[in-house]
Amino acid sequence: MSEKPSTPGDPIRYPPGSRVAVQLPLPIGGAYDYRVNAQFSLTDGDFVKVPLGPRITHGVVWGPAAGDVDENKLKDVISRLDCPPLPAVSRRFIDWTANYTLQAKGSVLKMAMSVRDALDPPKPVTAYLRTAEQPDIRLTPARIRILRLMDGGPPRTTTEIAREAATSPGVVKGLYDAGALVKVSLIPEPTVFIPDANRPGPILSDKQFTAAGHLVDAVVKNQFSVSLLDGVPGSGKTEVYFEAITAALRRDGQTLVLLPEIALSAQWLARFRARFGADPAVWHSDLTMAQRRTTWRLVAEGRARVVVGARSALFLPFRQLDLIVIDEEHDGAFKQEDGVIYNARDMAVVRARLGKIPIVLASATPSLETVVNATTGRYRLFDLPVRHAGAQLPNIKAVDMLKDPPPRGRWLSPALADAITQTIGAGEQVLLFLNRRGYAPLTLCRTCGHRFQCPRCTAWLVEHRLAGRLQCHHCGFHISPPQCCPECKSENSLVACGPGVERLAEELETLVPDIRMTIAASDNIQSPKAAAELVRRIEAHEVDLIIGTQIVAKGYHFPLLTLVGVIDADLGLQGGDPRAAERTFQLLYQVAGRAGRGDKPGRVLLQTYLQQHPVMQALLSGDRNAFIETETKARRESMMPPFGRLVSLIVSGTHETSVDQAAQALARTAPSGKTLQVLGPAPAPFALLRGRHRRRLLLKTNRETAVQPLVRQWLARTPRFKKVRIQVDIDPMSFF
Ligand code: ADP
Ligand code: ZN
Ligand code: ZN
Repeated sequence: MSEKPSTPGDPIRYPPGSRVAVQLPLPIGGAYDYRVNAQFSLTDGDFVKVPLGPRITHGVVWGPAAGDVDENKLKDVISRLDCPPLPAVSRRFIDWTANYTLQAKGSVLKMAMSVRDALDPPKPVTAYLRTAEQPDIRLTPARIRILRLMDGGPPRTTTEIAREAATSPGVVKGLYDAGALVKVSLIPEPTVFIPDANRPGPILSDKQFTAAGHLVDAVVKNQFSVSLLDGVPGSGKTEVYFEAITAALRRDGQTLVLLPEIALSAQWLARFRARFGADPAVWHSDLTMAQRRTTWRLVAEGRARVVVGARSALFLPFRQLDLIVIDEEHDGAFKQEDGVIYNARDMAVVRARLGKIPIVLASATPSLETVVNATTGRYRLFDLPVRHAGAQLPNIKAVDMLKDPPPRGRWLSPALADAITQTIGAGEQVLLFLNRRGYAPLTLCRTCGHRFQCPRCTAWLVEHRLAGRLQCHHCGFHISPPQCCPECKSENSLVACGPGVERLAEELETLVPDIRMTIAASDNIQSPKAAAELVRRIEAHEVDLIIGTQIVAKGYHFPLLTLVGVIDADLGLQGGDPRAAERTFQLLYQVAGRAGRGDKPGRVLLQTYLQQHPVMQALLSGDRNAFIETETKARRESMMPPFGRLVSLIVSGTHETSVDQAAQALARTAPSGKTLQVLGPAPAPFALLRGRHRRRLLLKTNRETAVQPLVRQWLARTPRFKKVRIQVDIDPMSFF
């Protein structure tokens, strides 16, 4: 009994001939048994090639075999892939996530091995060297440039030669054919820049120093802890967690930084580069296959030291992760809403716990969940209450749209219009925030009242005048704006209702002649490159005014921007989302934070019909904590998260009757009890989405209830309906 039991992390070796379980990245629950081939032994976490029916697929060794497969049915593992094994903590994290989200383990594993090519070592490429003796050839200027470049140089690929010698690839081939170059085989070696931990950061304020000291200590001790950096925009949170990154770099560990919208993080990357003298590895959906491959492998080898990414970076196979940072932790973008439905912020805390490492959550408007965790002492709280170097917080005022309305058919109140002309006149910049893409959210017929709706979704078609179409924002359906009403055939009878960013731009052109302005919406800012260009133009003062949707709300720092106008502050408060107030507060607070980031004070005007609403009151008085208290109380009383737990079940399919029947069946088999409640089925707000009919059920329990077994049993006892899908969303964040 005195023997130390083997810890779950200890690798076990499986000798040739033994059996192993192999988890495949497919939407299946458990692992399959295979026999270890006579030629090699295996270890847990090894990536392997295995037969699956007629196919060959990749998988990961996931412990000893269950042993219930007949010896003669058992297939051999084909080979072990030449790739670092998936670490034990990554495997446990995948198990944990699958179990928590009620998703198949294989689906979660798939997120961790999303780059199949990366499992094989890089393939050799053809490169060229100059021959020792130059044959007698015709010399052209291009050929001479290449020969000079290659003189004694390292082997280079055709692309590299063509780029560096400014020639076409054909010239390289010509020289090879003429015998002036020889081919060699080259393993491409990615350039890895190591961030330099020894470059000095700024001298920290006392509060920053305390927070940074604690984080550095947590990294050095290599213990699990969660810290919340709570501070207004510009209070220096980034500088604080940069110190923690320094500590991780010093102990040769890796850091993961998750940002809500990595595509828009140009400024963050620039700051990182300025501080550490090197680029971090980045991970998001906009990478090329080759970039993914290289980065995945560098992460697995522990050579990518700092990875900054969108939520999916959490599932990268870190070899030695020592620190996680979640910036803008309250952001809804951390929730993945399809496939494996998970909240990357919450799962990151789990990842940190399993890896016994510190995690830092940073936000100016932390989520209620996180605030409650900080007040109960589960998370360590660090306040950074003032802007660095005493920069002023913007002055926030409401424009009462009942008392001071815009002229008919316009969207800018006189007060906001004045402020805009004044600010631009003073040589400063304005941001107008309107979370509505396109020209107008709705088009209708003046004669008969016909409204243009998406045939596949419960949604209006949004007019995009620049693109010349009416478009659904949910499924991509679009039509050209018709000349006459499809219903009553009246001509010239269609009118645009309500404002979108394009329509607002039209109004500004009449307000400020020759205005230099730009629209920033996901329609035109689609890539990190486009975002970087936007940032450059604003910083260079090439524009006076930016009309933006939520994509400009976050993180940006523009010193000349002194006025923020919110066109419709009430927009997010509509609808039945339990987090509507919290979200609206966070969004508007973030937007307001864009004003006055330099030495000039900023001001914010909120156009609202709901000046007395607690959200507006909190913004106007600057009393965030009062708002949090009110919200906390309301959530506690209604047993909403974080005081109760929610699980959403979304039933969907193309056949409405079967969807209804399936939803009814779920209602009949629903669990019951004193501490739980099942609401629904009800048509989802998007009762039709991308051609699928949708119904929702909501399970509400107290905090102590383990909802996973409850839901698992519930689904198990419910009859299935053909072609109807049931999606489970644990801790739902949105209710569309
Ligand atoms: P946050 O992350 O809270 O928005 P940042 O870390 O981006 O704040 O800081 C805002 C600005 O103030 C940045 O330009 C940053 O470099 C600067 N800054 C923050 N802390 C210090 C400091 N201690 N000394 C000098 N500059 C600082
Ligand atoms: Zn009509
Ligand atoms: Zn649609």
